[in-house]
Amino acid sequence: MFEKILIANRGEIALRVIRACREMGIKSVAVHSTADADAMHVRMADEAVCIGPPSGTQSYLSIPAIVSACEITGADAIHPGYGFLSENASFVQILEDHDITFIGPSAEHIRQMGDKITAKDTAKALGIPVVPGSDGGVPDVETAKRVAADMGYPVIIKATAGGGGRGMKVATTEADLETAFQTARSEAKAAFGNDEVYMEKYLQKPRHIEIQVFGDGQGGGVHLGERDCSLQRRHQKVFEEAPGPCITPEERERIGTICANAIAEMGYRGAGTIEFLYEDGEFYFIEMNTRLQVEHPVTEGIFGVDLVREQIRVAEGMKMSFAQEDLQLSGHAIEVRINAERLPSFTPCPGKITAFHAPGGLGVRMDSALYDGYSIPPYYDSLIGKLIVHGRDRREALARLERALGELIVDGIDTTIPLFHALLAEEDVQTGNYNIHWLEKWLETYQG
Ligand code: ADP
Repeated sequence: MFEKILIANRGEIALRVIRACREMGIKSVAVHSTADADAMHVRMADEAVCIGPPSGTQSYLSIPAIVSACEITGADAIHPGYGFLSENASFVQILEDHDITFIGPSAEHIRQMGDKITAKDTAKALGIPVVPGSDGGVPDVETAKRVAADMGYPVIIKATAGGGGRGMKVATTEADLETAFQTARSEAKAAFGNDEVYMEKYLQKPRHIEIQVFGDGQGGGVHLGERDCSLQRRHQKVFEEAPGPCITPEERERIGTICANAIAEMGYRGAGTIEFLYEDGEFYFIEMNTRLQVEHPVTEGIFGVDLVREQIRVAEGMKMSFAQEDLQLSGHAIEVRINAERLPSFTPCPGKITAFHAPGGLGVRMDSALYDGYSIPPYYDSLIGKLIVHGRDRREALARLERALGELIVDGIDTTIPLFHALLAEEDVQTGNYNIHWLEKWLETYQG
């Protein structure tokens, strides 16, 4: 059994992991930058170590600083949270060399899924349906034109090393293709230092449906259904729900089984998410995230499991505490991401919190690192909290979300709370009738 876990992260996700550790009787170590000395995760952990100046690259992304903090405190394992070093294969390799357990998959699996062409080839070989597209990288415009003519327009050009929606360009006709191809390439080069691109058929009205998977690293694998994360702004999710409003039990069973079998065959360890675009009853793989996702609580809500606890268990070499047949879906869960941002421009709005009140009551969960008097530093992501509700069905979850949002008080800064009040008044949101383009279109006329 681990005695001490170091959390290489900050904010709500650091608290999430500290809570799981405490329930399991494991000591927790927080790391923090100088800007985060007063942060909630520092107060809540059993021990805390300052690992550097405010800039993320010199603190939460500094591998030497984090490994030293582990050595100083005698932590046995590291939980990476999401973002920062959570999908960094060389970090995992270094931990292996130092005999520190990484709570997550192997360096090899992270590498395999981090490169999008390799990920797609692996998915295909494991029987997962993928978006039609080029066979690997596309070296020049002439090849791009041939591939597009074969597939039919519109097409999307994507960076092999992509992430965060960068290096992606759509071409609707052959006349657009050359510019789209060159722009995608230069964006990819600038963002990732790698200008390789590949091509896919551009789907025009898909939903974003992702399957939560879990493997024990010993050939066992399960799925925990889907999440619908179609409400996105600039390819960033803002509202997530489970189960997906348009997914039937038969579809869930079919795609879930394919994913669970793939995870088992890979010998994958820990939590993972297999992301799909879904259109006209078909699933198309786009990528796999080899970590815990921001939106994991909606899955925990409908299955009543603790995914962080399971991550810790399998990292220790134990089996998962549930088998596929133990996982029974119940009710409906929704998460909204509360960001410190000014509407309608979504400009980051850090600053001092003058009053904070978290909502409560049946079926309400607030994951946040805020407190009265806390000053949100300007150096990091603007996510300051996640409000998650669970109800017996979607209608009850929506009503509960509206009620809980009404109780939530975050004073002193601007937040995205008003956005959700406005969204809940929309008929398409009430009926679950949206695709990945719905929010961007709606925002064109949103006044804040
Ligand atoms: P990233 O890793 O940069 O986030 P993804 O491959 O996960 O890139 O794609 C991010 C988003 O881009 C998807 O959720 C979807 O909104 C859009 N997208 C990606 N591929 C396609 C495609 N083939 N057709 C339509 N939209 C796409």
